[in-house]
Amino acid sequence: MPASKPQNPKLPAYVEAVLPVPLRRSFTYCVPEVMRGAIKLGARLKVPFGKRVLTGYAVKLHAELPPDIEFDESKIKNIVEISDDEPLITPEILKLTQWTADYYASFWGEMLKASLPAGINTEKVRPKRRKAVRLSALSKSLTPTEPQQRIIDLLEASGGEMLFTQLLEKAGVGASPINTLAKRGIVEVYVEDVRRDPLAGAAFPAREDLTLTGEQQAALDQITAAIGDDGKFKAFLLHGVTGSGKTEVYIRAMQFALDAGLSAMMLVPEIALTPVFSRRLRSVFGSDVAILHSNLSQGERYDEWRRIRRGDARIAIGTRSAVFAPLENIGLVIVDEEHDPSYRQHESPFYNARDVGVMRAHLAGAVVVLGSATPAMESFHNAQTGKYTYLHLPDRIGGRGLAAAELVDMRDVFKRFGKDVALSPELLDAIAETHAKGEQVIILLNRRGFSQFVLCRTCGETLKCKNCDITLTFHRGDGKLLCHYCNYREKAPRVCPHCQSEYLYFVGEGTENIADQLAKKFPAMRIARVDRDTMAHKGEMEDVLLRFAAGSIDMLVGTQMIAKGHDFPNVTLVGVISVDIGLGLPDLRSAERTFQLITQVAGRSGRGEKAGRVLIQTYYPEHYALRHAVRQDYEGFYAEEIKFRQRLGYPPFFVLASIMIKHRDLAYASRTANILRRELDAANSARHCRILGPAPASISRLKNEFRLQVILKGSSRKALRDTLQIALANAENDGADMRCVYVEIDPVNLM
Ligand code: ADP
Ligand code: ZN
Ligand code: ZN
Repeated sequence: MPASKPQNPKLPAYVEAVLPVPLRRSFTYCVPEVMRGAIKLGARLKVPFGKRVLTGYAVKLHAELPPDIEFDESKIKNIVEISDDEPLITPEILKLTQWTADYYASFWGEMLKASLPAGINTEKVRPKRRKAVRLSALSKSLTPTEPQQRIIDLLEASGGEMLFTQLLEKAGVGASPINTLAKRGIVEVYVEDVRRDPLAGAAFPAREDLTLTGEQQAALDQITAAIGDDGKFKAFLLHGVTGSGKTEVYIRAMQFALDAGLSAMMLVPEIALTPVFSRRLRSVFGSDVAILHSNLSQGERYDEWRRIRRGDARIAIGTRSAVFAPLENIGLVIVDEEHDPSYRQHESPFYNARDVGVMRAHLAGAVVVLGSATPAMESFHNAQTGKYTYLHLPDRIGGRGLAAAELVDMRDVFKRFGKDVALSPELLDAIAETHAKGEQVIILLNRRGFSQFVLCRTCGETLKCKNCDITLTFHRGDGKLLCHYCNYREKAPRVCPHCQSEYLYFVGEGTENIADQLAKKFPAMRIARVDRDTMAHKGEMEDVLLRFAAGSIDMLVGTQMIAKGHDFPNVTLVGVISVDIGLGLPDLRSAERTFQLITQVAGRSGRGEKAGRVLIQTYYPEHYALRHAVRQDYEGFYAEEIKFRQRLGYPPFFVLASIMIKHRDLAYASRTANILRRELDAANSARHCRILGPAPASISRLKNEFRLQVILKGSSRKALRDTLQIALANAENDGADMRCVYVEIDPVNLM
């Protein structure tokens, strides 16, 4: 339908909308006359797109068509509907998401969608409402007759108000006497929002009244001075060993921001958001804090988000996507465990919430604090070059030492036993000793399932997923072989599917297997396994962690889910079964990750009054990541790792982009990849970038798609982005199918 000519030049007659589709552009629509008074920036709109109607976001309003938009005016379509009276998206979030989309060569519409609570566009989540009745002020002066009197008596007995349905039931009446009373002004019938509180009914710990240590106070003073320095951006790196009291500094800094009339945000990695931590924050900030993480139900998440949007909650705590929480007047952004890879969103739209957090503070003229015991190489480098102000908490609170970490050389163990064993005598003895003292144990193994892969001893073949180039993992609990990448499952075969041999060999223990072996060795211990298989349902993780904290579980066996952030004072032994899994990954950050993992787990041991031990089993005891991690020597590790990064042209010296081309048809993927490579070369005439590939990705087939990868190394962020942007635009014109191209800036894994 052709749009009518705009009548009132003052009101917006046209709107530019971005849509949640992988397209790097906005679309212009006409606003029908009747809607022009109501349309606002940041509102969601229903708009026609091809044959579909999509939810888009109003990002620009125009009274007249701007001359630079080339359009046949008669072809511009009308928007169908404005979905929100009050825009869900604040001007700040509009700006932030636009910046983020640009920075990550991603899509603004997708970024905006990701910034909103899930389910909101499909209207699967709505506010929860209830209908209630209350006595109005007039009630005393009137004397109604039965059954109205009964209603009034009931209301008076329950403090003046009741739920509508409850009143009907108790009074044994239908709706009409209530409506009569309402008409006479004696009672009021109303509808109100009900908050779905993720911590409803939970007990909150009493607030501890601590006196900060001198080091904590010095760090806090610098942070609060910067918050007080109105509207100026400043970034801090708070480098503090585990248990050095960083959390207490965060809490006081947030309190300071609140008292100064500002709002604050704290990001935490997926799993560090322990039930214990949420409760601690609620005991400090009460309903001023809103909590956003993935274990909430959609309804709870939506309600917490709305409390932020309305200004009822001025502190937002949450995982990754909480960086887009619609706080206004933000004064402080905290990113705890800033090195953690879970800040990275691994699917489109790609972003790293830590870096978006820094940019959010930058755009808002706020203060950002990145905290970690093991800062990311990039962050420590930024502190060294003066981009971030460095704050150091080198000691644990109360003079407690860090748990001593010891390496167990599994080559020796092999020699002694003449075969591979998963559990060394050293570790087994330590477990027995710890248990005898009534203390608790954490055993970590980054591999779930029973055995990692199945090998045929006769023909040498491994059993692979039929959709992916990945070996299948045996899960004994359900007797299945499972692909950890696409969830394909099949019954575990008795004979080799390649040669019918019976000699199938199950290699590489996973958590299921280790928990089993430990249960057999220590029948008196209460053991819980924590991994994605056992913690499939909401609340299970929380339940186990609370029981462990209460002492009704003696030993946790699990994946990295249990490595971070928890504070269990009675844990005095942490064992790492096979740290080498991490070192073997084809990832530029594998040494860094391994160093971080060991430092993190060591931080779990001996947090209370008692000293702790950490045992790390390895076949490579001389690896530099292990040597430095055992001594908790961050600076030593950094000095060695940074040389390696410089030599190989890796971050923080070079900026990386990974371009993944995925398609079911390998030839089709190759064609697209080759066009991209050609355009990248053409766009890189100034040679500020190095281009590698296309080559098969290290997982060359996944979920039935072939995967080719091109890697770009830029000498500067600008050089990388410029080259990429030109090449992507030209490749599209050149016939490359951009629907199978996935660009990731600052990729976390190069896999
Ligand atoms: P981090 O976040 O650096 O790992 P936390 O803030 O969790 O450290 O502090 C570790 C422990 O020390 C917690 O139990 C905390 O309550 C306690 N703590 C923190 N600051 C102090 C202080 N100034 N005095 C006494 N105890 C403290
Ligand atoms: Zn075989
Ligand atoms: Zn698979």
